[in-house]
This record gives sequence, C-alpha cells and structure tokens, in this order.
Amino acid sequence: MTSQLHTRRRFLALIAPTAVGLLAAAVAPGLAAKGMACSDPEAESSEGLRRSMNYQVIATDAAKSCLKCTFYTAADPEGCGRCQILSGVVNVDGSCDAWSS
Ligand code: SF4
Repeated sequence: MTSQLHTRRRFLALIAPTAVGLLAAAVAPGLAAKGMACSDPEAESSEGLRRSMNYQVIATDAAKSCLKCTFYTAADPEGCGRCQILSGVVNVDGSCDAWSS
C-alpha cells in the first residue's frame, strides 16, 4: 500500500507541471484573441482611474464597446487598442463610463 501511495505521488508530481503548462498554452491564445491579454506598464499606473470609470474588459452593451468609442485608437490586430481617457491599452471589446460616440 505504501509503495502504491509513493508511486501515485511521484506520478502526480511528474504530471502536474505538464498539466499546468498545457492548460496555460490552451487558455493564453483565447485570451489574446479576445484582447483580454492587453497589458502595458502605463495601463497599470492608471488602475485607479480604470476602476473609477468602471472599465470592463468585455462591455455589457456591445453597442458601447471601445471599438465604437471616440477615445479609442486601434493599436494591433490582437484586439488591443489605446484609450485617450485611460491613457493606456484597452480591449477592443471593453467599455467604461466615459464612452462617447
Ligand atoms: S473611454 Fe472608455 S469606452 Fe472609450 S475607449 Fe476608453 S475605455 Fe473604451
């Protein structure tokens, strides 16, 4: 019984890092495709502003997404752009209270 337990533990210890790596590899492209992986150091500095403006990575109202906002500038094909109000990278599908047409 003890040797079975050790074998199981060794197996789990060996497979756990591989499983985590595979999971990350499977999820990361999906996040990038949705623009959820948009990040830059400037964005982190405006985290308080983002919170106060209720910035959401995915807009609840698609008609008021960053893509359709006056303050949005397209930046890359990954779904990330720049916002003049939040001073940094935002998701093309995101939104905030400062949205303007
Ligand atoms: S002001 Fe708000 S809705 Fe407009 S681009 Fe910036 S984050 Fe998006």
